[in-house]
Amino acid sequence: MSHRPASPLAGLTPQDILARMTLDEKIGQLHMVSADAVITGPSGPPDGLRDLDQGRIGSVLNVWGDEAAGLQRIAVEQSRLGLPLLFCLDVVHGFRTVFPIPLGEAASFSDEIWRDTAEAAAREAAEAGVSLTFAPMADVSRDPRWGRICEGGGEDPLVNARMARAKIAGFQGDDLRDEARLAATVKHFAAYGAGVGGREYDSADVSDYAMAADYLPPFRAAVEAGVAALMPAFLDIAGVPMTANRALLTNVLREAWGFGGVTITDYNAVAELIAHGAADSGLAAAALAFNAGNDVDMVSGLYHRHLAEAAAQGLVTLADIDAAALRVLRLKQALGLFENPYRACPPATPAQIAARRGAARRAARESLTLLRDPQGALPLPRQLDRIAVIGALAGAAADMRGAWAETGDVSAIVTIADGVRAAWPQAGVSVCGDDPAEAAAAARAAGVAILCLGETAAMSGEAAARANPALPDGQQALLEAVLATGARVIVLLSCGRPLAAPQLFAADCAVLVIWGPGSEAGHAIADVLSGAASPSGRLPVSWPRAVGQIPVFYGRRATGRPHEAGNRYSNGYADLPLAPQFPFGHGLGYATFVWSDLQVSAANPPDRTSALTISLEVRREAGGSPEGGDCAAIETVFLFASVRVPGRTRPLLLLRDFTRIALRPGETRRISFSASPDWLAQEGLIPAPEVVSFLEIIVAASAEPEADPARCLRRVLTGPCGD
Ligand code: BGC
Repeated sequence: MSHRPASPLAGLTPQDILARMTLDEKIGQLHMVSADAVITGPSGPPDGLRDLDQGRIGSVLNVWGDEAAGLQRIAVEQSRLGLPLLFCLDVVHGFRTVFPIPLGEAASFSDEIWRDTAEAAAREAAEAGVSLTFAPMADVSRDPRWGRICEGGGEDPLVNARMARAKIAGFQGDDLRDEARLAATVKHFAAYGAGVGGREYDSADVSDYAMAADYLPPFRAAVEAGVAALMPAFLDIAGVPMTANRALLTNVLREAWGFGGVTITDYNAVAELIAHGAADSGLAAAALAFNAGNDVDMVSGLYHRHLAEAAAQGLVTLADIDAAALRVLRLKQALGLFENPYRACPPATPAQIAARRGAARRAARESLTLLRDPQGALPLPRQLDRIAVIGALAGAAADMRGAWAETGDVSAIVTIADGVRAAWPQAGVSVCGDDPAEAAAAARAAGVAILCLGETAAMSGEAAARANPALPDGQQALLEAVLATGARVIVLLSCGRPLAAPQLFAADCAVLVIWGPGSEAGHAIADVLSGAASPSGRLPVSWPRAVGQIPVFYGRRATGRPHEAGNRYSNGYADLPLAPQFPFGHGLGYATFVWSDLQVSAANPPDRTSALTISLEVRREAGGSPEGGDCAAIETVFLFASVRVPGRTRPLLLLRDFTRIALRPGETRRISFSASPDWLAQEGLIPAPEVVSFLEIIVAASAEPEADPARCLRRVLTGPCGD
């Protein structure tokens, strides 16, 4: 897109602009349409074009490039005031270049990766004229049945908060006027991950405690990070649809947290208030959603049709319409759209494109999570004569993108088979599909089988709830056929969620979770298989043994009858262990780390005025396997607290911080955490640090600290009324 003249509004303040607008034009700023409402198709010009011409549309989703520029020309050059449009898109984990799905990227536990990939995605989408993304998703999710667990940071509030902050920094940068940036939209406010049964578009009953302790903190962090926009969830909470939830959208978000950005409903959610039963007409739905605190109506058209009438009837106020329109104008001003309505980042240079691919490879590599390797099959020797790469996903390009990446360039995906061929150029690489007999023959002939199992991209994401999130049909038979050959088997598990697959985890094979790895899938996977890098991903979600364990998450509270082997009247199941298949934080690597010398700067729990420093030494042992022994290896350290507050049930573990460190063989480094005075406070959980009677600090490699004693250190601090 070339630069064209500024809109006639350049240089005016949003307030000045508002003063020149008619009521219809103000409501137009609150009306978002989808591309098909304004793009001329086979059936001729759509009605929406007339609205555009009249300044009655404020934003369009799912359009970019020349089509967007054409629409902008109509808005700027033909409408009365020349108000520019805002172009919006779900740039969730990439635009043309695809980065790992958010749940996969969460496994890297790297704020830097989270930020860098958002920055790269923003630039690429901004090159095509997109100005706002509907990301990040900050919904804590503890239910792998829910298809959208793949879009967020997993089960922990702190991880989701850190990830949301990093994503917002990456998308938005310091100044939205920068053409390489996008305005971000945090979604889906709130508790969308708590839908009953993991079902999409369902209901939830969430206690005040869970809301405050688990679901709201990531959104609050996003607001504190300056997120430009926020989207409420489709679900209803305790009988109030989020689209109509004034208590959260106005009282909490606007009044308590001071959010001054734009709220945008989810797709058609205003009209869905009628199906919810919360409104009995388009007019009532528009008034209900607007009064709850939704500025922009995404595609239902009910603001467009009814808001003026609602104002005439006194159902909504003109002052509120002004305030909502002003917030939209301010966002457009922040993006520089009045001066630069055809805003588009200049095309990337070859060096920038290479850097983008590099970021995709690094993010994918550091997301790969090795769940088990009972025979030490990994890394694979550099010298291999033959390798069999098995399964329909082995050569699949589109599926490597994962969910929410339909704009991703399929022709630029490095498949698993491509990556293996590139890393073992001298080996004969045979690639075969899902037929068990053919797969067994290939595995037998090669002696080494890379078996690609798991979900296709379409099996997770929106409207992809699975009542039985297990290996897809037929894959167990394929696994058994390949295992029966006696070949060395490495399973690459692609998935947008943890899959309950107990037989897979009992088999004699390594299992490397690849999530939805993105454009550089094959290269990143080969980096790890070959030992060029040690796997460093850690689970951001507890991995269930069976569907009946769901929801399974580490943040449980102490029971009056803790689990005791052999005691049926203790907490747990009669037919399944209480612990998940793999705990939050679990992930193996090729290097051995040993932790020591925990130092804590105080002997008592901190009060509101004193900070705490916690440090430890992390040593990487020398040696290791010939292939993986000297490769880059990253260790992740989780800092948990366990606290007691009189009168309250004790949360067993609270994640308070995490960090990672890359060490060379034989290297030792001290790492430290700095805990601010309000470190212990968690809304709804620990109202004042002073009431903490017992604080145990636990640095551990996973949420099952006892699983690896060499990587777990503890210190108890007793408080004023402590034990
Ligand atoms: C999803 C949102 C998304 C929107 C626009 C909805 O169906 O729930 O997450 O941003 O569509 O594509």
